[in-house]
Amino acid sequence: MSTRQEVPLPVVGLSGFDAGLSEEEQGVQDAMHRFARDVMRPLGREIDRMPADKAYLPGSPFWQFHAEAQKMGFDPEALAGMPSEQAARMDAIMIEELAWGDAGLTVSLGAGGMPLLMARASGNQELVELCEGKLGCWGATQPDRGSDGLILYPEERHPGSVANKGNLQATFTGDEIVFNGQTSAWVSNGAVAQVALLDIVADYGNGFYDEHGNTHGCNVIVPLDIKGVSRGKPLDKLGKRPLPQGEIYFDNVRVPRRFAIATQNDYELKHAYAWAQAGTAMSHIATGLARAAFELALAYTHERRQGGALLATHQLTQHRLGGLGMKVEAIRAMARHVAHYTRCSPRPHPYFTAAGKAFCCSELMHVVNESLQLFGGVGLTHEFPIEKLMRDARAMQIEDGENNILQLHYGHLLSRLHQQEGWGRA
Ligand SMILES: Cc1cc2nc3c(=O)[nH]c(=O)nc-3n(C[C@H](O)[C@H](O)[C@H](O)COP(=O)(O)OP(=O)(O)OC[C@H]3O[C@@H](n4cnc5c(N)ncnc54)[C@H](O)[C@@H]3O)c2cc1C
Repeated sequence: MSTRQEVPLPVVGLSGFDAGLSEEEQGVQDAMHRFARDVMRPLGREIDRMPADKAYLPGSPFWQFHAEAQKMGFDPEALAGMPSEQAARMDAIMIEELAWGDAGLTVSLGAGGMPLLMARASGNQELVELCEGKLGCWGATQPDRGSDGLILYPEERHPGSVANKGNLQATFTGDEIVFNGQTSAWVSNGAVAQVALLDIVADYGNGFYDEHGNTHGCNVIVPLDIKGVSRGKPLDKLGKRPLPQGEIYFDNVRVPRRFAIATQNDYELKHAYAWAQAGTAMSHIATGLARAAFELALAYTHERRQGGALLATHQLTQHRLGGLGMKVEAIRAMARHVAHYTRCSPRPHPYFTAAGKAFCCSELMHVVNESLQLFGGVGLTHEFPIEKLMRDARAMQIEDGENNILQLHYGHLLSRLHQQEGWGRA
């Protein structure tokens, strides 16, 4: 009689080979998963099929989602009291689960909380009250200022050129700030948001530029129900359709100067902080979306028969599933690494966060593409949800900074560290 013992299967959870989740983390993950499965997936799929001019009207599934999210008590400040390391892990666990449910709705929730997050960080109670209970957005890009808005160092610009002041500017006059121009059509929640965090160029009385051709910037909280604000139509687009996007126009819009949360002197650092937050969230969203695609492919290969057996039993399929599983784990590891560094380092940097976003999103694209490939022809049809994930993933290659540009910034940072800090020298 054989005494051979079979190696038992490893312990795995929702987030894969993830050892040592605390009881609290496990509880949060389970609650987020239920919300993602029971609320976000069905509503996200419903909104995805709707025309953009109907999808975000009052009473639509989009607002149903936000009503359900409010019941869950999502609060951007919820992790504020936690030690940094624990907060970084909790953030990762929560956002991965939500994005597994629907990536576009997860962005709507995250961008929706940006003004409140920054208002709270500023300590200005009036602004906190102005943002509480309202859906927010982060207006940083404009029709003529996309990738240009993400340049932190003048030497990254083409020699001899000056920074791009874009199509929306703030003018600081006396006790007021006056806005004129428009955001890009890409502002997440832009079509429906009630309050904005504007991250734009400013004139403090000496023009928009300093003597080196750099623009001055500002972060200002602006309620969007005031005189002079109007909207474009909700954008009809390929992916992330559950996320309403659209232009916001400003025609001599005036707010008190105290609505500014970053001006001339502290703008660069606050801009960097806000962007690093966004890049970290994007990396976790990539993890959740990649896992969702992988799981669909894993399940389908256990249903579909070709070559005389279930797809999953063929060695070629097992090799391909192995490749997908490895990538999902790698995306998660990178996302958590970037989140940990960004929360715990004494001096984080948005170009490192950008590297995380670019890596996670480009690996995500490979995962979703190969997952769809495992479905064969039916993967292209609306009958299976994998095609939606493909479209959502495609949007993420450009969202929050186009991947090549982000990789370029990271390369620039590495070179600066080498030149200025001697990093990487023997
Ligand atoms: C789903 C989604 C959500 C978004 N949410 C928001 C939001 O909430 N708020 C907001 O303000 N914006 C948002 N955006 C806008 C997003 O940040 C921009 O789309 C992105 O930064 C790229 O800008 P762009 O589209 O103008 O492309 P461009 O900057 O015009 O780039 C076009 C191409 O040119 C290349 N390129 C650009 N500069 C250079 C250069 N110097 N050298 C060589 N090549 C270059 C790029 O790599 C790219 O391939 C969102 C976009 C998407 C898709």
